[in-house]
Amino acid sequence: MGSGSSRQNRAGNGLFGEGDTDPQFTPDMLQALAVQGQQQYNQRPARPAPIEHNRTTVRNHFALNKPSLKLVKAKDSDGHYRVTFEFANTQPCSVCIYFCAAEDLDSGGRPLDYAAKIALGKTAFSEGSSAQSYSTELPENKPVDFNTLDFSSDKTYDLVISLNSMSQDSNGRSLSSQTTYAKLSKVGGGSLEYKAQVTKQKIVVEGHENAYDVQEIFGIASNADEEDNECVVCMSEPRNTTVLPCRHMCLCHECAESLRKQTNRCPICRETVQSLLRINVDGSVEAEDQKSTSTS
Ligand SMILES: [Zn+2]
Ligand SMILES: [Zn+2]
Repeated sequence: MGSGSSRQNRAGNGLFGEGDTDPQFTPDMLQALAVQGQQQYNQRPARPAPIEHNRTTVRNHFALNKPSLKLVKAKDSDGHYRVTFEFANTQPCSVCIYFCAAEDLDSGGRPLDYAAKIALGKTAFSEGSSAQSYSTELPENKPVDFNTLDFSSDKTYDLVISLNSMSQDSNGRSLSSQTTYAKLSKVGGGSLEYKAQVTKQKIVVEGHENAYDVQEIFGIASNADEEDNECVVCMSEPRNTTVLPCRHMCLCHECAESLRKQTNRCPICRETVQSLLRINVDGSVEAEDQKSTSTS
């Protein structure tokens, strides 16, 4: 620790302001924050390390509510399930679902196509910023017979759900999307019940060459006026700084500045801090590109 080696800035390290346990969706939770560079965390108390801000804030129009994703056994049939989930969208979108899907990506990590054993979709939804419900019970879809699926290949994703904008480029590709990947597993030992566990989410944003991985920030308040939005150190200022890599949003800017000179442990979980990320959670940002570099 404390080698002072510079952390490589990495495109595609997105952060998504979604509560880790709160299943309620609000429009400002749709704001995704994609970080192309992070403030260097100072591990040497005596002399501040160079501070580098290089932040991109992007707006994500689609968000699948991860805890809501369920496999519901269809009535009176062996091996047949329906996929249900809730999502929020601030633009009209289509929903596509793929089982046992191999993904074809472009050089920026954006999905081009899926080769899937079973593909369900596309179901069109109009704009609706609060939670919408999806179920394969919708007219054009049928329940999936799990007896026909082979989940053994590690080159495929068990379940891929893609929310795509209706606006497309000249190649017919959606300009923006959110894709959710889930692992399916049997519930219990000899049971034939399945459950879906989300493993990652990815967004494609209009005008961006790279896809971004979506990460949760723990402790972000869905409502900025909430009392529990206080910095855990001074208990007065609103928290706006997230500790990385553990992603605990627990500090105000000032306390983060003084903490980085005193300790290298997260105040919540005591994990070693690698960097601090300041996020403005006012929901007012539509699409912002910020680049500034300052050195001591
Ligand atoms: Zn504070
Ligand atoms: Zn932490």
